[in-house]
Amino acid sequence: MQMKQFGLGDVVEMKKAHPCGTNAWKIIRMGADIRMKCTGCDHSVLLPRSRFEKRLKRVLVPAGEQDAKE
Ligand SMILES: [Zn+2]
Repeated sequence: MQMKQFGLGDVVEMKKAHPCGTNAWKIIRMGADIRMKCTGCDHSVLLPRSRFEKRLKRVLVPAGEQDAKE
């Protein structure tokens, strides 16, 4: 089984889009639970890490690349 890599500040795509139609979430808190914010409507959700990992599809924009791109 492959572990997905993700970190604080990353923008990620989930297996299911948010009802608002956006499928890009920014990770704003990491711990035993992960808090992420929908970049479309600013709605934030808290997920246990195991559930987050199951729903995660891929990292769209790693945190480190956001500054460079402006
Ligand atoms: Zn949304």
